[in-house]
Amino acid sequence: MRLDRYLIRRGTHSGKEVARLLAEQSVRVDGEIETSGLRKIDRFSRIELGDEILQAQEAVYLMLHKPAGYLSATIDPLHPTVIDLINHPLKDELHLAGRLDRATTGLVLLTNDGRWSKGVTEPKEEISKVYRVKTRDPISPATAAIFAAGIYFAYEDLTTRPAVLEILDDHQALLTLHEGRYHQVKRMFHAVGNQVVGLHRESIGPLVLAPLPEGEYRHLAKDEISYFI
Ligand code: URA
Repeated sequence: MRLDRYLIRRGTHSGKEVARLLAEQSVRVDGEIETSGLRKIDRFSRIELGDEILQAQEAVYLMLHKPAGYLSATIDPLHPTVIDLINHPLKDELHLAGRLDRATTGLVLLTNDGRWSKGVTEPKEEISKVYRVKTRDPISPATAAIFAAGIYFAYEDLTTRPAVLEILDDHQALLTLHEGRYHQVKRMFHAVGNQVVGLHRESIGPLVLAPLPEGEYRHLAKDEISYFI
């Protein structure tokens, strides 16, 4: 939204008065004087008029190393949720940008910026997600070609996008997906007669979890945030 429109919509000043306030250098955006009404702002811009703070909502972007047993939810009567691991004044405003199953460990993103999380979960371009998978049975070498061709999911009536499987040993592999269907990794291995017994998300796009210890979180850096905008 434009700064002048934001100021006029508050209803306390006319268009003429807003133009005057801007020219008089009475308006600050993110701590700096702004004289142009055309300046683009959003709900996370800090806006001050003279001594008055009109808007100051901090945008929070966190990466968490989810341990097993925690739900990818904000509230649950039975199980601990990932929010229980966050110690931040705005923790109750956070939501998840993509979920992991309760037993799955690894990279989870949390934010209070709904537009940003949409960029993570519904990206315009493909974003890769890398999972470390442990299986019940030995992974057949043919699995890589089957996953690359795509697996048909009858429930959604779709074929999964080409995935890359790097077999590490008999029971371990790295799987790179470019989408996030419900229980996708487990269902893909189920489709080839195997079963996932351990699952860990290592990365989402350029965001890599390591070396963040399990149960801990950190704020994302500017370039990490802007990748999904
Ligand atoms: N695929 C799954 O099956 N489970 C997860 O938690 C993530 C991807």
